[in-house]
Amino acid sequence: MNNSLPPGWRVINNTGTWTAPAAPPDSGSDSEDANPLTEEDLRPDSPGWEDVEEEVEVASIKCLICDERLDGARKLVVHCMAIHNLDMDRIRKEHRLDFLATIQLVNYIRSGVRSNDTITTDHLVNNPDAFRQDRFMQPVLEDDALLYSIDELANPDDPDDPLAQKSDNEDESGGAEVAGDGIGHRMVVERALR
Ligand SMILES: [Zn+2]
Repeated sequence: MNNSLPPGWRVINNTGTWTAPAAPPDSGSDSEDANPLTEEDLRPDSPGWEDVEEEVEVASIKCLICDERLDGARKLVVHCMAIHNLDMDRIRKEHRLDFLATIQLVNYIRSGVRSNDTITTDHLVNNPDAFRQDRFMQPVLEDDALLYSIDELANPDDPDDPLAQKSDNEDESGGAEVAGDGIGHRMVVERALR
């Protein structure tokens, strides 16, 4: 039965080891040390390598105003304040914006920027009705990473921030929980979009 083995295969059982002759005619030896990997297989760009590499997911959030990308919602808040004089914390605090209202605010700003409107903190503070509209539940950017990080917009200096109320009993306990929250919020977002 051993004779039916494909070239190069090896059988090990209680009767011993039997190796089928390797396919290439130039294999003079018993191919005991035959390495099935060719040099090409070991190059990082050969097929199969992409599955091995770990997927690194860096949250890249596009700035509300410019094209810069920030790796965190709070960094975006700081950037918008420093570079664009847009005070997200103040707008949110002024009107106690909760999760859904903050989504509306984000989409309102993004759509305003897209149509070249000037977005100012004062305007948003004084005209909350401008963005408190159902149509701003609709994402302006496709796969807007900021919409999946809404709860991270919570102002750490404001214990009454509605976004900080979500996990009252279990704040800051670890990354796994944060990931779970993200999924929950993603569902909320998707449900809100139907
Ligand atoms: Zn910016």
